Amino acid sequence: DNKELPIVIIGSGLAGYGVAKEFRKLNTETPLLIITHDDGRSYSKPMLSAGFTKDKTAAALAMANAGEMATQLKASIRTQAEVTAIDTEAHILSLGEEEIPYSKLVLAMGAKTHKAPIEGDGSDFVFSVNDLVDYDRFRQAAIGKKKVAIIGAGLIGCEFANDLRNGGYDVDVVAPSQTVLPNMLPEAAAQVLQQGLEAAGVRFHLGALANRVVTQDDGVKVCLSNGEELEVDLVLSAIGLTPRVELASKAGLSYNKGIVVDRTLQTSQQDIYALGDCAEVDGLVLLYVLPLMASARALAKTLNGDVTDVQYGAMPVVVKTPACPTVIAAPVDQAGEWVVEGEGQDLSCKFLDAEGNLKGFVLTGAKVVDKLNLSKQLPPLLA
Ligand code: FAD
Repeated sequence: DNKELPIVIIGSGLAGYGVAKEFRKLNTETPLLIITHDDGRSYSKPMLSAGFTKDKTAAALAMANAGEMATQLKASIRTQAEVTAIDTEAHILSLGEEEIPYSKLVLAMGAKTHKAPIEGDGSDFVFSVNDLVDYDRFRQAAIGKKKVAIIGAGLIGCEFANDLRNGGYDVDVVAPSQTVLPNMLPEAAAQVLQQGLEAAGVRFHLGALANRVVTQDDGVKVCLSNGEELEVDLVLSAIGLTPRVELASKAGLSYNKGIVVDRTLQTSQQDIYALGDCAEVDGLVLLYVLPLMASARALAKTLNGDVTDVQYGAMPVVVKTPACPTVIAAPVDQAGEWVVEGEGQDLSCKFLDAEGNLKGFVLTGAKVVDKLNLSKQLPPLLA
């Protein structure tokens, strides 16, 4: 029946395309419509912070364009289209003036980057990289340039620092925290990661804010709260991501840090689901690939009529800092303490609860080989 209303997916990132792919394995007939604000190219977002190391342009990172994806997924894909409202009662969404009815709706809208509150006239030199278009823009701007200041020493800031060094750039990292990856690493592991990056030539300015970016000559001067000034060609801001909840909130869906969904990925409204960076699944907001893939598999079954709870096993994150390989399996519950073993760059840090049970771990250097073994000892994130 070609009058059947489509399942509509908002977003063409790993979550949106992922759930479409999994659904097509189960069902080749139900019409699918994917609506995306970007150009609909399929790419692996984690590659964005390894692109200089691998010397890949944005075009080279794109695995397929929207047309190819439409054929592959037997779906209609609307690109450069922003969903502006959802009428949850009528099952209709709006693209500005245009109205589109849906049978079921999947929100896979991702997270947006925080904007640093920076003064000065240099904002055209401040970039952030959270999608392929951003990456393209930054890479183009970096051609022929030498010095980059990165704001933020979190996971993405540190990955870009290593990647840009590998690409031959001079790198300064500025962050208000006293250590790298604050709140994610025990002190000892943060030290060896920072030292590894320093040995690769990255300069850190921790405990300092970047307050002003002003143009000068061909580049900019970054003025720090500790009085230091960095003269650079470009600034890359990597100060964090927040789930996109505005559309859901306007539509009256429950949200907290992310769009609130239960274990079946259903929002507070029937027939509307969410997964990926925009979703808060049973209280967990995990901005990583493994959880969204598990969610895509479960949601595909639910959309096909077989209501399925998502399960998360242990999901360690590999930090892409070859200067000091690091793996993090963050404890969900903060009750416990870190026990650190090893020496030099090779640390095995275990987070143990009062009974001595393993609740999380961080491995650095040569110890990253223990990832699988330790993962097996961890409790699942969502049983
Ligand atoms: P996104 O890829 O952000 O997709 C969101 C989609 O929604 C986009 O297509 C957007 O256009 C669309 N959209 C939003 N609003 C609207 C609207 N109103 N109307 C229409 N369309 C809309 N994770 C790991 O596990 N390992 C890693 O090594 C790793 N490295 C990373 C490196 C970088 C540089 C970054 C930024 C992230 C990294 N991550 C990593 C995180 C991981 O990439 C993300 O968790 C994942 O890609 C999120 O996918 P998503 O589909 O939920 O969101």
